[in-house]
Amino acid sequence: MAVNLLDFDLDGLAAYCDSLGEKRFRAVQLFRWIHQRGQSDFGQMTDLAKSLRAKLAGVAEVKALPLISEHRSADGTIKWLFDVGAGNAVETVYIPEADRGTLCVSSQAGCAVGCRFCSTGHQGFSRNLSTGEIVAQLWFAEHRLRQSGGERANGTIDTRVVDNVVMMGMGEPLQNYAALVPALRTMLDDHGYGLSRRRVTVSTSGMVTMIDRLRQDCPVALAVSLHAPNDALRSALVPINRKDGMDALLDACVRYLDAAPRDFITFEYCMLDGVNDTPELAAELVALVKGRVSCKFNLIPFNPFPESGLKCSPRERVTAFAKVLQDAGIVTTIRKTRGEDIDAACGQLAGEVQDRTNARERLVQRRQVIPIAVAVGDAR
Ligand code: SAH
Ligand code: SF4
Repeated sequence: MAVNLLDFDLDGLAAYCDSLGEKRFRAVQLFRWIHQRGQSDFGQMTDLAKSLRAKLAGVAEVKALPLISEHRSADGTIKWLFDVGAGNAVETVYIPEADRGTLCVSSQAGCAVGCRFCSTGHQGFSRNLSTGEIVAQLWFAEHRLRQSGGERANGTIDTRVVDNVVMMGMGEPLQNYAALVPALRTMLDDHGYGLSRRRVTVSTSGMVTMIDRLRQDCPVALAVSLHAPNDALRSALVPINRKDGMDALLDACVRYLDAAPRDFITFEYCMLDGVNDTPELAAELVALVKGRVSCKFNLIPFNPFPESGLKCSPRERVTAFAKVLQDAGIVTTIRKTRGEDIDAACGQLAGEVQDRTNARERLVQRRQVIPIAVAVGDAR
C-alpha cells in the first residue's frame, strides 16, 4: 500500500525522505508543494528533483478523503461529509466570518465519551482518524476554497482562506493523541499552513493526563467543555468526569496556562433548559473558577436533536447566566449558532458511524440510572 504523505509532519516527512536517500531540504520542498500549493500529483511538482519524483511514484501518495456531500447554509457555512471507509463518514465545517475563516475539524469517527447532549456521542464510536485523515480535512477545505476565490463573509479574496482551526468536530481529540499531535504540527508549520498557535484550538471534554502531555508536546489554544459547576452534575453530563473529577481538571488547566499561547483557558458551557442554566449554578461556577484559573466562558445554546430528550435554555436564561459571570469580571460570550439549517451547528455533527461500543444502549441505560433531574437536584 502506498505511504500517505498527509500522515507526516515535516520531521516525519524528512525521516521518510531520508529513508529514500533524500536530503531534508527536499522534504521541505515536497511539504510546501503538498500543503501550501495543494498539489497531489508528483509529476506537477516542477522544481522537485526528477529523481525524487521517480522514487515517490508508485510508493507514496497524497491521499485525499473521498467527498460524499457538500452542503451550504444560507449564512455561508459549508459542511462537507467525507468517507473514511467501512461505512464510516466524518464531517468538517467551514465558518466564514468578516475577518477570518474557521474550520471545524473532526478527530474520530464517532466518540466514546458519550456526553448526554451530543449527537456524535449518541452515535457511539468506531475508530480514531489517522493524522492523514485529520490533515486531509484542512488540505481539502483550504485548497478547494482558494480555487473558488475565497468564501469570506465580506467577499474579499484572500490567499489564505482558513486561518483558524478548531478541533470541535466529531470526536474527542485527546483520545486520539498520537494522530493529533503531528496533525497540529502540520497546521502550525511555516512550511505547512503556518497557523499561529493562538488560532489552533483543541477542545476537550477534559482528559487531565492528556492536557498535561499537550502542554509539553504542542501547546495550542485550549478549550475545555465544562458544562457544569460541580462533579455531580458534570458526571451526569460528561461521563469522563467520573475518572478525574473537576478539581484535578482545573489544576491541569492552571498548569496548561504556563505554556499556553493565550493567557486564558476557554470554558465551553452548553446551555440546557432546566439542567445547568440557573443563576445559582452560574454563581457556583464563579466561586469555582474565580481567582483560580484565568478563563473566558463561551456559552453554547444547545442544539437539539431528537434522541436527546433535552431542550435549549430560553434566551433570557442564557443572558441572565452570562450576566452573573460577567458581573463577576469573567469575560463571557454567547456562541452564535451557525449553519443550523444544514445541521452543521455544534453537537449536530453526526456523519455516519458504525458503532462498535454500543453507545446508544449505554446512553439509554445511563439515562435510566441517573436521570438528569436527579443530578440537578444533587447539585443544588
Ligand atoms: N470532544 C470535544 C470537541 C468536540 S464537541 C469536546 O467535547 O470538547 C465541541 C463542542 O460542542 C463541545 O463544547 C461540546 O460540548 C459542544 N456540544 C456537543 N453537543 C452539543 C449540542 N448538541 N449543542 C451545543 N453544543 C454541543
Ligand atoms: Fe465526544 Fe465532545 Fe460529543 Fe462529548 S461533546 S460526546 S467528548 S464529541
